Amino acid sequence: MIDTHAHLSSRFGEEIKIEGLDYVVLAASCVQDSKDNLELAKINKKLLPAIGIHPMEINDDFATLEKMFDNRVVAIGECGLDYSEFPDRATDSFAVLAAKQEKLFRLQIAMSQKVNRPLIVHSRQASEEIIEILREYKNLSGVIHCYSGGKKRIKKYLDLPGEWYFGIDGNLTYEIGLEEVVKNIPKDRLILETDSPYLTPVPFRGEKNCPEYVKHVYQKVSEIWQMSWETTEKIIDENARKLFKIV
Ligand SMILES: [Zn+2]
Repeated sequence: MIDTHAHLSSRFGEEIKIEGLDYVVLAASCVQDSKDNLELAKINKKLLPAIGIHPMEINDDFATLEKMFDNRVVAIGECGLDYSEFPDRATDSFAVLAAKQEKLFRLQIAMSQKVNRPLIVHSRQASEEIIEILREYKNLSGVIHCYSGGKKRIKKYLDLPGEWYFGIDGNLTYEIGLEEVVKNIPKDRLILETDSPYLTPVPFRGEKNCPEYVKHVYQKVSEIWQMSWETTEKIIDENARKLFKIV
């Protein structure tokens, strides 16, 4: 089992629960997280660091991030667009924010191409804008983290140049609509995440999430696919290994 998206930097507490997992991809929301991820990777080989800046952290310094790259980094992100705090798009403040987010996103896309690492894309209430931007680039690959684009956008992502995966989280265990989405994602493009410490799956909903709980998401997918646990795990882990180039 591989948790392909967890936040384990020190600001979320000390304890790291990864028993039974082969790997955990450490997502980064800011420069500080990125530094923490690189440190964590030194103490445990199962922890694979990503470095990146979340769209809500637009004042973070990209130049600092870029200098932090080393060969251990498995992905760039999470990065992308997040319009959730701006329901009214007809304002000047929205235009300013959107422009800043787009600039930061494009810098990280360019970095992903340059260093040949996949992107971890955060998309919140901005699916169409994300698709438009990604369409402009060739040779990209990555994951649409915590996929929330619904059934109808799956094909749009699959039609993009490059290879795109869908990251599904613990909310699959309690959001009925997501089951339909998972049924429509090609089996070779699905990877699973916890987004720890957020999005805790049933039966631990309401508590703090941890990478070990990704097994409840695997379990749910094996039920939806009507496949054995072993086959489900094999397919999903192969996808994760391919995307993040885990050998
Ligand atoms: Zn995240």
